[in-house]
Amino acid sequence: MTFNENANVGGNTARRRGGGIAVAGGGIAGLGAIAVILFQLFTGQDLSSVIPSQPQVASGEESEIQQCETGADANARDDCRLAAGSLVLDQYWETQVQGYSKPQLIVVDQQTQSACGTASNQTGPFYCPPEQTVYIDPTFFGLLRQQFDASAGELAQLYVLAHEYGHHVQNLIGVMDDHPNNGAGPDSNGVRTELQADCFAGAWVGDMTEQRDENGVPYLKEPTQQQIADAINAAGAVGDDHIQQESGGFVNPESWTHGSSEQRQRWFETGYQNGPEACDTFAVPGGSL
Ligand SMILES: [Zn+2]
Repeated sequence: MTFNENANVGGNTARRRGGGIAVAGGGIAGLGAIAVILFQLFTGQDLSSVIPSQPQVASGEESEIQQCETGADANARDDCRLAAGSLVLDQYWETQVQGYSKPQLIVVDQQTQSACGTASNQTGPFYCPPEQTVYIDPTFFGLLRQQFDASAGELAQLYVLAHEYGHHVQNLIGVMDDHPNNGAGPDSNGVRTELQADCFAGAWVGDMTEQRDENGVPYLKEPTQQQIADAINAAGAVGDDHIQQESGGFVNPESWTHGSSEQRQRWFETGYQNGPEACDTFAVPGGSL
């Protein structure tokens, strides 16, 4: 239970947009459904946590996230938790960044198109700078649990959302323009950008009980040590070296774009303990990043 049950999260502006698994026999969404069934056959794992319980929306259609009014709703449902999390993140960053403007949050249902490519649980969550939009398919968290041993608990989900918000902040304050993509590798701007987003996420988690609704109710409860460990574990589980070990059996630092698990966890904790001012990953010499 991450949110205070009676906190008012009704003002969120998140939208749900989908690719429609219900389209008979057709399209990539249909293939995705088949892949899920095959996965289940081969592994015998219960996929009830992976298959979304919300009604499907038609391809490309956008809709409001229903029944997302209170913290209790956010505790009960992944899509509402993300929507409520966006409300709290916006409130935090408004106090940290002058002239802050909110990103859009699209909760992806199966898959949808963006200016940055297709969004689905296979691509994972991402931020699309030209649209200033965060895309997250909540079924990604089920895959994270199965593939990378991350517990993907409630706070870990909010950490992933906060990481994408970190990229939005970078976009607003000019980090992406000042440090353009200069290729892969452990000292690259790409790795520094990702580690800074982890640090920004940690900064918010360290301050997350300070944001309150219009009645003064804190949106979020103080995280437990276990929840913080979960979030750090999630950060580690999506580290590039871990993904490479899972997928290929060896680690090639030259292809890193996110940083190692150890680096991601360390920068998350740096932000958590010291706030966003401590997140200048671009000022750190390569060897000690
Ligand atoms: Zn990132």
